[in-house]
Amino acid sequence: MIEVDATSEVIAIDVGGTFTKAARIDVRGVARSFAMVPTPVAEGPEAILELAVSLARSLETPNVIGVGVVVPGIVDSSKGVARYSANLGWRDWPLRDLMEERLLHRVNLGHDVMAAGETEMRTGAGIENGLVVVIGTGIASVTVLNGEVVKGAQGMAGELGHVVVRNQGALCRCGNRGCLEAYASTGALPLRFRDLGGGDADAESIVRELSSDSFAQEVWSQAIDCLATALAMVVSILDPGKIVIAGGLSLAGEALTTPLSASLNSKLLWRASPPIELSHYQQHAGVVGAAMQFYRTVGLNDFSTWSPGLKG
Ligand SMILES: [Zn+2]
Repeated sequence: MIEVDATSEVIAIDVGGTFTKAARIDVRGVARSFAMVPTPVAEGPEAILELAVSLARSLETPNVIGVGVVVPGIVDSSKGVARYSANLGWRDWPLRDLMEERLLHRVNLGHDVMAAGETEMRTGAGIENGLVVVIGTGIASVTVLNGEVVKGAQGMAGELGHVVVRNQGALCRCGNRGCLEAYASTGALPLRFRDLGGGDADAESIVRELSSDSFAQEVWSQAIDCLATALAMVVSILDPGKIVIAGGLSLAGEALTTPLSASLNSKLLWRASPPIELSHYQQHAGVVGAAMQFYRTVGLNDFSTWSPGLKG
């Protein structure tokens, strides 16, 4: 049994489709030694494993009691297996055991968006009924109903990115056409921008050019409209109290939330829309959630004193 005391720390790693983030997070939720490095997606699962292991080693201290890792796609947390990720190119990858062998620490493997949802739900003021939407290389969501994360029959709830918002629309990585992810993710924005004739630009620079570039404006308003279409469906069915946007695209701030709120309002004329807020953790909700999930495996369950934001 792992003993937790006031000095305990957990190494938390969030393996994303573009960047891998890591930090050492103590029992009060204070993060130290935050690191963010590109994920070697093209080099395959072994290279991603090696990166996670070397990041964990670089964060080691005598106070570390374990490692929390979160990944995208389909994850079997109980068996510690990353079942499938279109972005990271693995199938049935026993990531937990592979990391435990190398690090000689207990490792907990979780789902990145579930972890981000838990972060928003359990820290600070928390969420009793709401929707957390994580927009990064892909798009996924977590529904919190009556204080519980909705997992679904196969643990696959929340694939908001693959809700079809345009009939016969742009090709998505899942093989379908017209998915939200093919229009509004940080992975899709550069593709749509290039298709329009805007040239090469990443999502960050597209947002930066919104005041002056008509291609950027067109791509952005299409992304906003698609997001609002998907959110209107969720609001109609689940009636969330608020919508929290996390992930890389949340860095766009009011350039995202202001038009998105207006567009959602325009699609829900028969009712008031829930407020749309930015995550206090922005793109760090996953890494904080990775630590939280590990602490939960050793009996720590109250995170109400963890304050929003990544400190240290
Ligand atoms: Zn799709």
